[in-house]
Amino acid sequence: MNKSVIITGASRGIGAETARVFAENNYNMLINYNTSEKNSINLRNELIKKFPDINVEIFKCDVKNYTECEKMVKYALSIFGNIDCLVANAGVSQIKLLIDTNEEDYCKIMDTNVKGTYNSIKSVLPHMLSNKKGKIITISSVLGLIGDSCESIYCASKFAIVGLTKSLAKELGPSGININCVAPGYIDTNMNREISQKEVKELIKGTPLQRIGTPRDVANAIYFLASDKSDFITGSVLNVDGSIIL
Ligand code: NDP
Repeated sequence: MNKSVIITGASRGIGAETARVFAENNYNMLINYNTSEKNSINLRNELIKKFPDINVEIFKCDVKNYTECEKMVKYALSIFGNIDCLVANAGVSQIKLLIDTNEEDYCKIMDTNVKGTYNSIKSVLPHMLSNKKGKIITISSVLGLIGDSCESIYCASKFAIVGLTKSLAKELGPSGININCVAPGYIDTNMNREISQKEVKELIKGTPLQRIGTPRDVANAIYFLASDKSDFITGSVLNVDGSIIL
């Protein structure tokens, strides 16, 4: 029987590439999206054409909403019968001085990144706890380890994800559930569309591996943490950043 995974925010960027890597490894999957329905349908079509032996479902759910997350998990269980892995990837960012932000900015970022991660984890937990097995991968950022100017709320949300991951590793370890976090550096996705080519060149200069990251770089690390090669790893933060100096 194929294993199965739920990937939140899989309509594009890192989440979509993660779906491709899991498909290559014969996972059934639920691709979660919020607004990008067309992308999700295209991704599903791409995957079922290439990998006819896997089951690929798409599901619209705003991770900010707990009830929607619960419905998503119920749907996945009704189709796959099991959930081996959750990749809590959905996230939003913002580049603004703190003084220019408002409560709406704060709530959008914290509710998507922190509450969304909480909601999706809490929704899969009853199933994983009764199975005494499961892998959960959260997504922070290198900025969630060191902070950055003009991204205070985003950084605070990403620090919180590290705290959630490390605490849950202690809480869930005795129940056979591993939870780890991936902290990407600068990755070439839509999220960074506001960053100029000049700034990208500077970032590359400050990266010992002399390039920016690709969604595939991050997806491979996520897959490693989902695989049985990482069975004795929990509560860790894996940087995927070319050792960027910020
Ligand atoms: P993108 O902006 O390319 O994609 C974001 C994804 O999150 C989309 O699929 C989007 O879905 C989904 N999403 C946003 N809000 C919600 C919501 N409320 N409910 C469900 N899904 C939602 O970003 P990336 O792929 O670059 O980012 C993925 C993760 O990696 C994020 O957590 C991000 O913070 C993190 N990260 C990214 C870095 C980078 O350099 N790119 C660096 C460090 C961390 P839809 O389009 O359907 O609304």
